[in-house]
Amino acid sequence: MSAHAPWHIFEQTLHDPWTLAAEWKQQTGGPVIGHLLPDVPEELIHAAGALPIALTGAGVRAARAHALIPGYTCSHAMGVLERALTGQLEILDGMVIPYVCDTTRNLHHIWRRAFPKMWCEFLRLPKRLEHPGARDYLKEEFSRMREALCRHTHRAATDEALEESFCLYNKSRAKLREAYERHRKDPSTWSIRRLHALVASAQCAPRDLHLQWMERLPWNTEADEASHCRVPLYVRGKIWDPPELPELLDGLGFVVVGDEMVTGYRSVGEDVHLGGDPLEALVERHMRLIPYAGYHLSPREVVDGFLRRVEQSGAAGVLILDPKFCEAAGFDSPDLRQGLRRRGVPLLALETSDRGGAVGALRVRLEAFAEMLSQTVP
Ligand code: SF4
Repeated sequence: MSAHAPWHIFEQTLHDPWTLAAEWKQQTGGPVIGHLLPDVPEELIHAAGALPIALTGAGVRAARAHALIPGYTCSHAMGVLERALTGQLEILDGMVIPYVCDTTRNLHHIWRRAFPKMWCEFLRLPKRLEHPGARDYLKEEFSRMREALCRHTHRAATDEALEESFCLYNKSRAKLREAYERHRKDPSTWSIRRLHALVASAQCAPRDLHLQWMERLPWNTEADEASHCRVPLYVRGKIWDPPELPELLDGLGFVVVGDEMVTGYRSVGEDVHLGGDPLEALVERHMRLIPYAGYHLSPREVVDGFLRRVEQSGAAGVLILDPKFCEAAGFDSPDLRQGLRRRGVPLLALETSDRGGAVGALRVRLEAFAEMLSQTVP
């Protein structure tokens, strides 16, 4: 078996989760439910007997979607709509769209009109996480979503079924956190590209199968001799868009010591606590997540939390990837940049979108940043 063989399945799944979903559907008879990232609890969908598939719009060139949604829409939302309009999501038996910003709220309305036959639910996440009623509200909303899912799948997501799903997903997340550790020690084998494929594919494959695939990886590789020459980087962003970015960072000698991507560490950093009320446990996890840019917290808390995470990571610099046309990122980013500058942390902020198609331009900026940081790494 070649050294690449055990990794191939993750990249393949990320590229084409639909073949696998069709096989799963045939074997189990269960429905496949797509969800727009971030923060739809996969465990709720899984416990209701369905296969959750996380959807992103990275790497999609929009054409038909322009007729239904304004051109100034982020490529994440625009790309997912394009996928649906061009028949790429026909395997789906349902869709869950979370409320994280005006764009996802609008997308939900557009979706219902464009695909009236597809079951579609809107998960109304609280925007003001600090509000005293936010936890109770979210528990009610998760409860409503659980009932809606069960009506749709004709399966009961009992407390016991939820606990089983929590165990499975916690086990998977623990293994993926271990993968992050391996990346830090041996970034040649556990490259950024492979790490991304590993973590992101977990969100679009049957989790038990994905765990089995992970067992085949070379977990005992030796620490990479050259890893100390790599430039430790912290990444703030949402999805890797354009999708070539992880490979680009590998090629420039970075090692990612922390990230906040919704297809990255943010999706695996927190587990669900076992043994209590399952919906309260899901609420607790939601509140512990790195706050998504669309949520409202006091600016000081957002900045202080971010700076603390950057400092703990040991990064030599920070890469901020703001999606083009993302108003939420536009609100947070200036405060975060100012905070980094006050502390003297080197920073590169890029507005990215595959729609620009400017990988070459990104490479030039990243090369210059890598060169500057490499002079500060002992
Ligand atoms: S928060 Fe930004 S990136 Fe996320 S869906 Fe909304 S506009 Fe798009």
